[in-house]
Formats: sequence, structure tokens, C-alpha cells
Amino acid sequence: MRRRKFLSLISAGSLGTALAPRTGTAAATISGHPETLGVLHDSALCIGCRKCEAACREVNNLPTPDKYKTPEKPFTDLSVLERKRRTDFQRFTVVNKYRSKDGRTVFRKFQCNHCQEPACASACFVRALVKTPQGPVIYKPDLCVGCRYCMIACPYYVPAYDYGNAGNPLVYKCTMCAPRLARGQAPGCVENCPTDALAFGRRLDLLELARARIAAHPGRYTPRIYGEQEMGGTNWLYLSPVPHEELGQPRLGKIPAPELTSGALGAVAIVAGLWPAFLGGLYCISRRRDKTAEQDAALAAATARETAEAEAQETLRQALAKAEKEKEAAIAREVKKAREEAAREFEEKAAPQAKEESTPPPAGEPSS
Ligand code: SF4
Ligand code: SF4
Ligand code: SF4
Repeated sequence: MRRRKFLSLISAGSLGTALAPRTGTAAATISGHPETLGVLHDSALCIGCRKCEAACREVNNLPTPDKYKTPEKPFTDLSVLERKRRTDFQRFTVVNKYRSKDGRTVFRKFQCNHCQEPACASACFVRALVKTPQGPVIYKPDLCVGCRYCMIACPYYVPAYDYGNAGNPLVYKCTMCAPRLARGQAPGCVENCPTDALAFGRRLDLLELARARIAAHPGRYTPRIYGEQEMGGTNWLYLSPVPHEELGQPRLGKIPAPELTSGALGAVAIVAGLWPAFLGGLYCISRRRDKTAEQDAALAAATARETAEAEAQETLRQALAKAEKEKEAAIAREVKKAREEAAREFEEKAAPQAKEESTPPPAGEPSS
């Protein structure tokens, strides 16, 4: 980890002390947890090398570009920067190249901004998207019912869907490397940026860092930190040498997305009334389908067990009956054999005697 990447993280105390008056201002204007973490992307330092894209693939076990559904050039090929690419289920971040109105080439990294008050999470009625106090907006695939309302709600068009996987429809987006943060590591993309265009640390410290850079180099930056206040603020922040709108970043107000959404829905009463019912209905149908499938499976198993038991009983009964018959036949055979032997013995004994009795006595001897 290069020193400057962890600048705001490890020197939170000293930086906060050096710029203490401005920290108070930030704390007063930004909602959210004060210790929440974030990342600052500085387009003035970004060279469009795509090393962050490659690192993101690596730490998230995503497919390599040649394995994309529509295969793409490797991360070392920078010609792809000419296209305005978006994130999708195969890549959680992309870097795009922009030509500013004054003719400058500027690169901007794109991924989930991990909003302080995320529209995606407020739109998700099963709480499959959750804002954590640490900063990341995390996704729980086990809870997701695939309604895709988060995709509609996100003002940055971030959540992606794998349309080719209808059997297991999940939402994909940058995780802010939440598992790495939990292990005390910085996000993979930050760790692999060769120019320190990415800095990781406490959001409040990153705001101070960004302000310090603008103050130190007024000619290098447009005097605005994108993400400081947009729709309640985001945990990813941006510095740019040109107006942020020229880098494809939407002009958004300060009102947090959940408030905006409720206002919009409130203006359209039928939507406000029907949408929760519709989503709830989808959820119930999905749950009922699962439950019915479970019940069907249990019933099928019970029926199969009963059938198997009945068949086993019948087989046993037939086997016993057959054995009984065979035993009776064997006994009958033995009895018959014994009788025949007895008759033979009797005949054998009786024959000499009968012969003796039938022989006439010698002449002169009285017959008895
Ligand atoms: S950028 Fe979009 S997906 Fe990311 S937290 Fe904000 S609303 Fe959600
Ligand atoms: S924070 Fe992690 S998931 Fe997000 S773009 Fe960087 S490497 Fe990818
Ligand atoms: S690794 Fe850093 S310099 Fe390279 S494209 Fe990403 S953010 Fe820009």
C-alpha cells in the first residue's frame, strides 16, 4: 500500500487537526455516520491505465474480458476507453475517456457511488440492499426477489442484471470491497492504482483532502467535489479538472433520494398506492411458489415412502406364503417318503414269513 493512498486513513487525526475549521463545516452539511469510509477519485491524476478494472476483477473473482458473454479486449488494451462503457454483471467498474469542451483528455472511473442515503436500498422492499455504517451499500442475494426496482431507482444507473441467467436473477454492482474492509484492507482498485488517483479513508477526511488539493492547485481543479452533496451525498467522491457534467456525471440536487422518491410517488397517488401492493404481491407469489414447491416435494416424498413400504410388506407376505407352501410341500414329501419306506420295510419283513408259511411240510410230519 502506497503511503498517499492511506493518507487520510492513517493520518485522520493529524489531517483533521490541520484542517479542523473545515471539518466542522463538512460535518454540519453531510448526513450519515461520521466514521463512514469512502474513496476519492481524482481525475487530474488518473491516466486511464485500467489497472483498477483489472484489480476489481481479481479481488471479486469476476471473469476475464475474454470470458465475457461478448468477449472483450484484455485490460492492457486501452482502445476500449474510446467507448462510453457501463458497468454490468461481469465488471463492477470501468474507466472512460472524455474530451472536455476546452479540448482536454480526462479519465473518470465509474462504479457504485455507495450513496449515503441510497435510492436503491430505499426502493428495495425486501431489504436486499442495505447501507452499512462503514460505508458500503451491500447486496444480499438470498433476499433478492429479482423485481429490479433498485435498477430503476438508482440515479447513476449502477445496479446490473444478468439477463442471460433467468433461473437465478441477481443484481451485480461494486461492493466497495466490503469483505476486504472487514479484514482491514483497502479496496482492490485503490491498492492497485499506480498514480494515487484513488485515495481511501474516512469520508470526512477525504473531503478535507479534496478541499486541500483544490486550495493548493486552484488552476488544476474545478472548485467542486462531486458526491459531497448530490442526493444526500455519496461515499465515493470525485475531483475533476473540468466540470463534472462533462465527465458524464448527472447534475443532481441535494435532496436525498428516499425523500425524492416518496415525493414523486406521493404526486402520483395510484402509483404510491399500488406499487407496494404490486411488489408485495410479487414477493408473496414468489414465496408461495417456493412454499408450494416445498409442500409438493414433501408430499411426493411421503407418498413414495408409503408406496415403498406397502410394496415391501407385500413382497414379504408373498415370500412368507411361498416359504410356508414350500415347507408344507417338503413336509408332505418327507411324510410320503417315510410312509413309502415303512411300507417297503414292512413288505421286506413280511415276504420271508409269507414264503415260509406257504411252503408244505416234509412228508410224515404233521402239519401244525
Ligand atoms: S449509486 Fe445507485 S446502486 Fe450505488 S448506492 Fe447509490 S443508488 Fe445504490
Ligand atoms: S471498491 Fe472493490 S468492488 Fe468496487 S470498484 Fe473497487 S475493487 Fe471493484
Ligand atoms: S488505476 Fe488509477 S490511474 Fe489507472 S485508470 Fe484506474 S484510477 Fe485511473
